[in-house]
Amino acid sequence: MTGTLKKIKLLNPEFPNKATGVINGKASGILNWNDIAYPQMYRMYQTLLANFWKAQEINMQDDIKQWDHLSSIEKDVFLRVNTQLASLDSLQTPTMTQVMDYVTDPSFKAIFAVIAQQEAVHNESYSYILSSLIPLSEQIERFNQAKDDPIVRKRNQIILIAYENFRQEPTPQHLFQLAVQSINLEGIYFYAGFAFFYHLARQQKMLKTSTMISYIQRDEMQHAYFIAQFIRILLTENPELNTPENIQYVYHSISEAVELEKEWARYILKEIEGINLEEFEGYVEYLANKRFRQLGLENHYSGRDNPMPWIHVFSDEMMNETKSDFFEQKSRTYTKVTESNGFDEL
Ligand code: ZN
Ligand code: ZN
Repeated sequence: MTGTLKKIKLLNPEFPNKATGVINGKASGILNWNDIAYPQMYRMYQTLLANFWKAQEINMQDDIKQWDHLSSIEKDVFLRVNTQLASLDSLQTPTMTQVMDYVTDPSFKAIFAVIAQQEAVHNESYSYILSSLIPLSEQIERFNQAKDDPIVRKRNQIILIAYENFRQEPTPQHLFQLAVQSINLEGIYFYAGFAFFYHLARQQKMLKTSTMISYIQRDEMQHAYFIAQFIRILLTENPELNTPENIQYVYHSISEAVELEKEWARYILKEIEGINLEEFEGYVEYLANKRFRQLGLENHYSGRDNPMPWIHVFSDEMMNETKSDFFEQKSRTYTKVTESNGFDEL
């Protein structure tokens, strides 16, 4: 089963509705959620929908008032981080949509569609934050800065190579590599930025922005978890992909992303008082271990504990427990979270 994956025909009535494989399977193209190959995917889909939110629900007035009281360094880092995170999310929407064309199982297609939609919301939320704080001319400048920054380019490169390889040559091997890099993007790369916003929040600064960031984080954790499940299924169904080289690729790629995230943190957070960079490095390793375990692999770094428990306070697990808007303590009635949504901490 080497060779290029074919774009799947929309409808194949001669095949069953329940797919015989996540890729290269037989599937009619019709989705009945009650008749799917991996029933747990229905729960995954429901959890993603339960997370539904949109930027306009959050009133930015308090942050607008506080913005002028931030130091110039805080403002600069705020804007750099915002546009850099927006740049990452911009890659995710089209990539998730593209993967849908090659995955045979319709339940996975549906989940990729929801993830693509959520990435679009994330993208919008960064623009929404910016539009309430700075004029368009400055936004344009900041987005250009994010495109040109050599450290940002360097860290995006490993993601882009894998994503472009799959675009040019959609093979199972490239799909596997794309999925691993997607875990890096969603499960490692956002966290220096998140740490900065939560650091402001614990000083009671820019809480509306942090509320949005916490929703994005909750989505990203769920995406990274789903992609890890997807990789495990892909490797189990296609043993020719389950090679020592590919397992090595996982360890190598995630470790590389960890180093790049540390480098970015040292650069972007160096003048922010109150964030201990050594602690942050431990936090990224802690996150990476979590990703390895979700993939069914061993911890790669020593130390299983979260060295930045104050980030955990803002984490999705915590918000799911409170079942309310974490920062505003306002019930979000449409978020129906159940125990089964729990994030697999292992
Ligand atoms: Zn996102
Ligand atoms: Zn995502």
